Amino acid sequence: MDRTTDLVVIGAGPAGYAAAIRCAQLGFKTICIDKSVDVQRKPTLGGTCLNWGCIPSKALLDISQKFKDTKEYAEIGIGVSEPTMDVNQMMAFKDSVVKRLTGGIQTLFTGNGVTFLPGVGQLGHGKQVSYRGHDGTSELIDAKHVILAPGSVPMEISAAPLDNEFIVDSTGALEFDKVPKKLGIIGAGIIGLELGSVWRRLGSEVVILEALDDFLPMVDRRIARDALRIFKQQGLDIRLGARVVGTEVSDGSVSVNYQLKGEDQTYACDKIIVAVGRRPYTEGLLSEGSAIKADERGSLFVNDLCSTSAPDIYAVGDVVRGPKLAHKGMEEGVMVAERIAGHKPLVNYDTVPSVIYTHPEIAWVGETESEIQAMGDEFKSGMFSYAANGRAIAANDTDGMVKIIADKATDRVRGIHIIGSQASELIAQGVIAMEFGATAEDLALTMFAHPSLSESVHEAALGVNGNAIHAVNRRKSSK
Ligand code: FAD
Ligand code: NAD
Repeated sequence: MDRTTDLVVIGAGPAGYAAAIRCAQLGFKTICIDKSVDVQRKPTLGGTCLNWGCIPSKALLDISQKFKDTKEYAEIGIGVSEPTMDVNQMMAFKDSVVKRLTGGIQTLFTGNGVTFLPGVGQLGHGKQVSYRGHDGTSELIDAKHVILAPGSVPMEISAAPLDNEFIVDSTGALEFDKVPKKLGIIGAGIIGLELGSVWRRLGSEVVILEALDDFLPMVDRRIARDALRIFKQQGLDIRLGARVVGTEVSDGSVSVNYQLKGEDQTYACDKIIVAVGRRPYTEGLLSEGSAIKADERGSLFVNDLCSTSAPDIYAVGDVVRGPKLAHKGMEEGVMVAERIAGHKPLVNYDTVPSVIYTHPEIAWVGETESEIQAMGDEFKSGMFSYAANGRAIAANDTDGMVKIIADKATDRVRGIHIIGSQASELIAQGVIAMEFGATAEDLALTMFAHPSLSESVHEAALGVNGNAIHAVNRRKSSK
């Protein structure tokens, strides 16, 4: 054996780096192996999220929203000449954001005493990990515990094979060197809507082809309906029930062939983004003798504590069941580290927030009405529109609403659903409320600063029991 250690983490995305940092903080000798490299072929930390996911996409979303906002300044009295967009400069800013944050993980590793090995890690027999460095070195590491955090990659479809020029995945869509005149997107899920919004705001014609007849089936029905209407007004041409059958690249452009309501259709465009979901990534991770098993979807099989079937081997993040979200992975990584140290934390999978960073944003936590109905339970709900919120009106940004669903018998909050500006921030209030087992009345009895968008959460909570002040209640309030 070349080296022994307390812990090896394979993968330095949010799940892996959080696990490694916490393990080191708890006094374990910790090694983290990651094979990602940046465009200059230099090792980079932070996985999909920091390099090709959450962070670069949010940089482009924020910049493109600022660009769009300036076009509407005249309405509120600010005079600006027609804004222009330098795509190369926008990309350079995005890259600088990525560099700053990935470098930040290196600083955290150094500060906490995590040893980073750039290269490929493979789990061998028992808790042995073989490491093949990018510099050509290799070694066998004997660990007391191993945490697998290899993440996920975009799914591909045979009807639209990637060529990384005309047909790209989400990574390619973060690197366009100019605004495509016409952009086709396959999949009206989170990535399709976020990246579609970026390029639409910058001037692209955007057509999104979605296989399902329902729009955002995981979202509250009323909010999904409002979102579809608003996105269509913004110029996102979302075609539901579209079955993509093929793509053709010729003469410097690309076209996508699809069937809609039984008719063959074609959309000719400059670029196509394929955004049809992500799959767990385990290529080369497990040696033949490894005892770790994957389920039928390719996720590594774990229990609620992220233990695999092999002793002292854990798996966290996108490679295991549950939503493929950075914060869910980070919580799993920290939980595993603390359990190895003998503490007893749990991840509360009932309070994982989800956000779609369009404008307006969509955010939710807990159950939808349909899910509660399917369980045969009774509920009550309160809604409050941004159009009645003073802060939203003052900001000239009134598309949106907050909906709170509570158990009919106990009044306990079971779900909070928001569409509107800063929904990603407001939803944290819902997560905290649900984590502490709050009732709608608990929220209603809480004081919120005025004027603030958060008052919409307060009014929706008041509305659950018919006591809203700034909206007409559906029922007479009780005395
Ligand atoms: P990853 O981040 O995928 O990291 C895994 C790492 O392990 C990678 O660096 C990989 O190279 C490395 N690795 C794999 N196998 C090996 C091996 N054998 N040896 C060494 N290294 C290995 N989530 C959110 O919560 N919010 C968002 O706003 C958001 N936006 C997104 C936008 C886009 C465009 C995309 C694509 C994703 C977005 N996500 C978002 C999802 C988020 O990026 C993932 O949920 C998150 O990165 C998963 O973390 P992870 O640590 O499990 O895996
Ligand atoms: P998704 O699951 O959100 O959406 C994929 C969409 O593609 C679905 O609506 C699906 O019905 C549709 N689809 C599948 N096959 C199709 C086909 N052949 N033709 C047309 N439509 C098809 O997946 P995504 O948008 O690729 O994102 C992947 C994951 O990354 C997300 O589920 C999420 O976990 C994560 N992510 C999160 C954020 C965030 O938190 N804001 C942002 C981006 C990505």
